[in-house]
Amino acid sequence: MRLVLIGPPGSGKGTQAKFIVESYRLPHISTGEILREARSAGTEARKEAARYMEAGHLVPDEVIIRIVEDRFKSPDCANGFLLDGFPRTIAQANALDAMLGRLCWPLDAVIDFAVSEEELVRRLSGRRSCAACGAIYHIDAMPPAREGVCDRCGGELTQRKDDTSEAIWTRLVVYRAQTEPLIEYYRDKGILATVNADRDVEEIVAEVSGILERAKGK
Ligand code: AMP
Repeated sequence: MRLVLIGPPGSGKGTQAKFIVESYRLPHISTGEILREARSAGTEARKEAARYMEAGHLVPDEVIIRIVEDRFKSPDCANGFLLDGFPRTIAQANALDAMLGRLCWPLDAVIDFAVSEEELVRRLSGRRSCAACGAIYHIDAMPPAREGVCDRCGGELTQRKDDTSEAIWTRLVVYRAQTEPLIEYYRDKGILATVNADRDVEEIVAEVSGILERAKGK
């Protein structure tokens, strides 16, 4: 299956992505993750990308499109993939269409995670993640047993630099302006499914599973 997840920061897209890739054995292509990993490599181009990220702005389209193009060359993508956080602009969606057209890889579904703004801010400002294994916590809704320590591996829990209040607002404004138009774009193509992501994780998982089973059966 070839899938795209769209949703504002804090919509729970990352959590759903983990569930989908485990259940359907798909490679998880998260452009945010790829950029965060690259940042620790420390080259000039990567440091520049990190500056956009920390301020909550989008990294330029051509940088991201190149990353995805490269990633598609890995053999693991031949049987499907989950794109999480890409595309985020209409230019990226057009580039993705062109790439997938060349490869004869049509998308099966695009899932849009819709959440109210208040809930997004609450989720993002309380989000903490493990620097070692990537596990995600929330200081109120899903706290670790010991404050600041990962239950799974004992690693240190940190807050992403772009989860601080100023960057959160920038990211939401950027989302509304640049990414939300993709919802219409994919609705017009007849492959969009919208999920109400204001609910509990389990309820969302159940709805997403239904969407994927229908997409698989098409
Ligand atoms: P995420 O982990 O998906 O929330 O992404 C974190 C940050 O990485 C974003 O706020 C952007 O700065 C950058 N980023 C990730 N994916 C993209 C993309 N498709 N286009 C532009 N910037 C991106």
